[in-house]
Amino acid sequence: MSTGVIKKVAGPLVIAEGMRDANMFDVVRVSEQRLIGEIIEMHGDEASIQVYEETSGLGPGEPVESMDVPMSVELGPGLIASIYDGIQRPLDDIMKISGNNLKRGVEVPSLKRNLKWEFVPTVKVGDEVETGDVIGTVQETVLVQQKIMVPYGIKGTIKEIKEGTFTVEDIVAVVETEKGEKELTMMQKWPVRRGRPYKKKLTPEMPLVTGQRVIDTFFPIAKGGVAAVPGPFGSGKTVIQHQLAKWAEADIVVYIGCGERGNEMTDVLNEFPELKDPKTGQPLMQRTVLIANTSDMPVAAREASIYTGITIAEYFRDMGYSVALMADSTSRWAEALREMSGRLEEMPGEEGYPAYLGSRLAQFYERAGHVVSLGKEGREGALSVIGAVSPPGGDTSEPVSQATLRIVKVFWGLDASLAYKRHFPAINWLKSYSLYLDDMEKWFNGQVAEDWMEGRQKMMTLLQEEAELEEIVKMVGMDALSPSDRLKMEAARSIREDFLHQNSFHEVDTYTSLKKQHMMMVLVNEFFDRATDALKDGASLQKLISMPVREQIGRFKYVTEDKLDEEFKQVDETLSAQIAAAFVKEEG
Ligand code: ADP
Repeated sequence: MSTGVIKKVAGPLVIAEGMRDANMFDVVRVSEQRLIGEIIEMHGDEASIQVYEETSGLGPGEPVESMDVPMSVELGPGLIASIYDGIQRPLDDIMKISGNNLKRGVEVPSLKRNLKWEFVPTVKVGDEVETGDVIGTVQETVLVQQKIMVPYGIKGTIKEIKEGTFTVEDIVAVVETEKGEKELTMMQKWPVRRGRPYKKKLTPEMPLVTGQRVIDTFFPIAKGGVAAVPGPFGSGKTVIQHQLAKWAEADIVVYIGCGERGNEMTDVLNEFPELKDPKTGQPLMQRTVLIANTSDMPVAAREASIYTGITIAEYFRDMGYSVALMADSTSRWAEALREMSGRLEEMPGEEGYPAYLGSRLAQFYERAGHVVSLGKEGREGALSVIGAVSPPGGDTSEPVSQATLRIVKVFWGLDASLAYKRHFPAINWLKSYSLYLDDMEKWFNGQVAEDWMEGRQKMMTLLQEEAELEEIVKMVGMDALSPSDRLKMEAARSIREDFLHQNSFHEVDTYTSLKKQHMMMVLVNEFFDRATDALKDGASLQKLISMPVREQIGRFKYVTEDKLDEEFKQVDETLSAQIAAAFVKEEG
């Protein structure tokens, strides 16, 4: 163990000397109070330490001790339903020790040591195992079965395997390796700043279905993909995140909250545990891990929190699960990075952010992916990452937004002005994009309907044309539009109101299957196509746009899944009949 002494304290940054034997990213204990820190820079025998606790009162000469291990997380049963701080200390345990006001230097294990878990072995004595192989399972919560995997670097023959209830420190298996016997517990550790290894990364070609129409149909995220969402206040960001946590095809949700103000985090801590998993009726926490940077922790802890969160997420990905990670907000994380960079007296880049802002962000997002795990069987798991950005004043030309947009492949542009008009979800269809569309075309056309992409494109074109027509209307008025353009405006309005508007609080509308999204797409498109033809053939525009069937199309979002086919057929037939009626000459 290498020890040194404090030379200088600058807020969350402590410079220690006499640290020649320490390594980058080692965990250190600072001063007699044993504050937790991490070495983020080494110069000769001087270590720059990012301290994750309040450093007031610390001074030169106090001892610094390196633990000679990198900042790591504990992975094993007990993760799910936990609420951790940025360095994986369970909030309930630290509060038990120190009350609501965090005491400094509190040492608590991340995984509870007293809990016992039922371990069901899946291998037997004599079996050959290697890194990533599953040796047993633990039913961690009603919703999650944790797979206990052979830790990194171990390969050999099972010499002993147990069955029964154990704590995370009890030995459940012994592996005979080339380097001797290795005792395995249900817990393993992993350094947070290193991505967990996998066998291979697959092209993201399958969507992470969310049941949210504007996302799935227009701007889908791939399973294992990366998306960014800006979060102007009141734009419905919280509602979107809750909808994704509840409905996205993810077995596990990891939510990292880097809130600015203390109460933002309190909201998350109050709200998340209240959410219900709609598919099972169980609390959503039964498949969730929460990382919350409480306001009484210094900003430096935010910097660590996204690594803590993503490492936990990778661990579940390795089990073969679909994991959705949400980081809110990466702007707050970047501000922590900027503050540390300033303290380190590094050359500042744009707006004071360090020059490596972009590469750090990229390193984080790169840990997303659809992968084949290590191990003989190689499970397919996916880690999808959704990062919220909160640019000051909502101006996305600032460095964090710009750096993020260069990396992510999906952007859901939440727009305060749409929210103001009560258009929810307030995702701006003209500013948002998904670069996964090409990769996923085959999946959608093959798995949902062969005209999926074509239908999507038709709707998108109409929405774009609407925006152009609106400009004209502003200048010369609606009456100046040709009948066919008027019809376009009507069809686009129907796309917005009947398709894009989705009420998260409506029992049926809150989730739309892809099959239903396709039917809705067909109906709004068919209205436009058939009305356009009819118009050319001399039908009355007025009659076409006031067809009562349009009401029915608008209400299709409330049709329950079991009635889709019959209702679709009925609406489609009514549409044909009413189009035909639009040809009848008006009386008088
Ligand atoms: P933010 O977190 O961006 O400040 P919220 O997510 O709390 O905003 O949303 C603000 C309000 O907007 C909500 O209380 C709700 O009334 C409304 N809202 C947002 N999204 C939807 C939605 N999809 N359906 C219905 N109402 C919504």
